[in-house]
Amino acid sequence: MKHKQTWKVKASILALLFCMMCMLGCGKSSTSNEKTLRVGTNAEFPPFEYINNSGEIDGFDIQLIKAVGEEMGYQVEVQNMEFKSLLGSLKSGALDAVIAGMTVTDERRESVDFTTTYYTATQHIIVTVDSDIISLEQLNGKKIAVQEGTTGDLLVTPEDDNEIITDKNTEVKRFKKGTDAIIELKNGSVDAVVIDANPAKEFVRVNEGVLKNIEITDIKEEYAIAVSKGNEQVVDDINEGIRRIKENGVFDELVETYINGTEKSVRRHSDNPFIEFLYTLEFVFISTNGYKLLLQGLVATIGISLAAVLVGIVLGLLLALMKMTEVQKGKKTLWSRLASIYIDIIRGTPAIVQLLIMYMVVFQSKMGMVAAILTFGINSAAYVAEIIRAGILAVDKGQMEGGRSLGFSYAETMRYIILPQAIKNILPALGNEFITLIKETAIVGYVAIQDLTKAADFIISRTYETFLPLIAIAIIYYCLVKLLTKGLNVFERRLRQSDIR
Ligand code: GLN
Repeated sequence: MKHKQTWKVKASILALLFCMMCMLGCGKSSTSNEKTLRVGTNAEFPPFEYINNSGEIDGFDIQLIKAVGEEMGYQVEVQNMEFKSLLGSLKSGALDAVIAGMTVTDERRESVDFTTTYYTATQHIIVTVDSDIISLEQLNGKKIAVQEGTTGDLLVTPEDDNEIITDKNTEVKRFKKGTDAIIELKNGSVDAVVIDANPAKEFVRVNEGVLKNIEITDIKEEYAIAVSKGNEQVVDDINEGIRRIKENGVFDELVETYINGTEKSVRRHSDNPFIEFLYTLEFVFISTNGYKLLLQGLVATIGISLAAVLVGIVLGLLLALMKMTEVQKGKKTLWSRLASIYIDIIRGTPAIVQLLIMYMVVFQSKMGMVAAILTFGINSAAYVAEIIRAGILAVDKGQMEGGRSLGFSYAETMRYIILPQAIKNILPALGNEFITLIKETAIVGYVAIQDLTKAADFIISRTYETFLPLIAIAIIYYCLVKLLTKGLNVFERRLRQSDIR
């Protein structure tokens, strides 16, 4: 009778967890009717959009859409994602608008609508200072790096209708970010980068003395904000907003501050290699606020890991108990089968795939933090379940028999006799699981969370220095794990002390 009740409780907990997940997942945009404008961008395109020194999404486009929102009574919510995913997110309904220095093209017009244009741009070729490339035609047969899916990509890809790049041997390397293309150029793996004029100027300015840019004057492009097809209300509102901020001078102010402005941190250089190294350290971690990004990232990494471990322990315990019904009954039960299937699926699929499914499918590209915590919690539960099960099974069989012969029920024996002993086997292994989890969370950058790894990524985007930021996070992860291992060892020793009889 008693353990029937225990199972009822367990089943209710499971059902409750399931409902909570569904609620979180289905909590689509309840805010969309409160005039919230969910705007997507790719903050890798300075000066139009970038991550500023305080770690926030900033830039001409961002301030423009915020000013338009203010004029028209919209609460603007900016989401940072890959350039290539922007229009897809717009079409899926996860976004209301996209502002990303996006050029109006006939191809894009087929799937989305555009507002009035707000900026005219050209394309630039970026090469190293010693290169003799001065025109687009010279890129025929060369290796060119571009940002994937952009107009720069189209311009140099030798498709049939490309009249300038006709040589099919031209190799186009596509990157998710302009900065990655620049790093490729600096490493000597490509001959040129083709990208929009303003980011090009920005990239060259930061890499003064190493890179130069060549303007392709005869190609003009117009930037506009993309809105999902047929969403006339939003197009009209944004157009009206742009008209008003042009009239009241805010637009021109933004052009002055973000596009023509010069207040930017400039890097110091020295011929002495040691001093140059110190200057680089200062540039990477201090003057561009890299240390702040790292600290914020560290907090996110620890937070996600801790929360996920908690979810993992609760779910893992449930799963372990489900599996243990097999031992109790002496044959496979429905519960044990369900738990086995869960563990099998989770262990058989990569965490990154689970994360993308959770974020893009279940959460519809919203609440990245919750999606990440749940994914890692659910993932970790599969391992925790096995840890707990092994811990319980390691307790001598005689203990259960003893408990039962004293008149305890199965559940009571578990609770008062087996589990307290099993804990000693379980806790150290759980600690290890936590350590593994910390390192595994390094993929959360995929769902737009600024963890430690993403922080390094941002610093690289801003400084074009790869070595220092990557080594810095490697050291931080290492110290974190070392510290935890030390703590765990002390803890384990304490646990064992009680064993000395
Ligand atoms: N203007 C270019 C395009 O629309 C590049 C935009 C970007 O990389 N953010 O393709």
